[in-house]
Amino acid sequence: MSETTTTTGGLPPPDRASQILTQARAMMDDLHLGPVQRWKEANPGGLAIGYMPVYVPRPLFEAIGCLPVSIFGGGDQVDIIRGDSYFQSYICHIPRSTIELGLNGHLKSLDGMVFPSLCDVIRNLGGMWKMLFPDRWSSYLDLPQNFALHLGGKFYAQELKRIARELHERGAKAYDPEALRQAIRNENRRRLAINVLDDLRRREPWRLPTSDMYVLLRAGGLMPSLDHAQMLEEFADAVRARPARPFDNVRVVMVGSFCEQPPLDLIRTLEKSGCDIVDDDLQLGLRYIEAAIDADTADPLEALANAFITDGAATASRYIGTAEKGRALIDKVKATKADGVVFAAASFCDPALLDQPMQEAALERAGIPFTSFKFAENTGQFQVIREQAGAFSDSVKLWGTVQ
Ligand code: SF4
Repeated sequence: MSETTTTTGGLPPPDRASQILTQARAMMDDLHLGPVQRWKEANPGGLAIGYMPVYVPRPLFEAIGCLPVSIFGGGDQVDIIRGDSYFQSYICHIPRSTIELGLNGHLKSLDGMVFPSLCDVIRNLGGMWKMLFPDRWSSYLDLPQNFALHLGGKFYAQELKRIARELHERGAKAYDPEALRQAIRNENRRRLAINVLDDLRRREPWRLPTSDMYVLLRAGGLMPSLDHAQMLEEFADAVRARPARPFDNVRVVMVGSFCEQPPLDLIRTLEKSGCDIVDDDLQLGLRYIEAAIDADTADPLEALANAFITDGAATASRYIGTAEKGRALIDKVKATKADGVVFAAASFCDPALLDQPMQEAALERAGIPFTSFKFAENTGQFQVIREQAGAFSDSVKLWGTVQ
């Protein structure tokens, strides 16, 4: 990334970390996908493929010359005019705003869309998308539910081959194992850069608040993995030099926001209410595979498919077989030395809200305090959440539990 110098009428120039954050925020807020358009201009013939949350195998797309683009609806920036007429009122908000973005032309730089098998809402949205935009490629991505490598892994590898084949028919490069190896290496490097920042956030959450981390990761859904890795690496160096002072906050794990995203101001509200968010499942897709994927193997496509089976995150959005519900959350609380958990799920989000009672029961058994609320991506009032989170943090600080 190029170094820039800014003069601000007598004020000191912004530090490099702040500059990177400003750039990432501009990318995140650009609902017309300007960064994607610029990528296409710089990569003639490359296809931009949007995908809905949470996870898609991004290295496969990069290996065949495509840019995978994460689509998180319209947030709090889009008025829903037509999107509401496609869905019943008692489901989450993200499909309405995504339809709205599609119909009003915001997503026209995308050459295709992928809808992973996350929930019924995404499945229905994928069907509607096919009807609304029949000329553009779109695909439902069936993720494995059977975690035996010779069954689920093999099935998933077939799915990946189908996607590569279909996109090649639409102008993408042919699948090449060496290109996939390089794309996996780039993704591994990005994952490492995220790990470094996550470690810093846990050690010094006042230096790297989750609201900043979130903006950095949202930008990553709009750029190639190598560019994003370099951005994060540069930010990590810069933010360590930035002056920061600790606050007397409680440490919380935030869970439930893996798909529809809360407004950025809601995350800031939690921080201002006395909560240092030391772990979260916002932007889970970039952290979904929890270990480095083997790039130097004979069959990198098989390695990519198997990584979903063997190293996929424990989340409500992924089938969990016999493992104890809530165990992964408790382990995370302990590993991050968190004082409690904040459940923040999108209203009507079936995967998150069906999981939550089991996770709450597990936390109760383990004596870990928690609080919960629901949001919509366009929630504009935070006062109630501020008071609830403030009362939670005070209670945990004073008594180590919720009174
Ligand atoms: S917010 Fe929940 S219910 Fe809605 S699309 Fe996402 S996972 Fe599905």
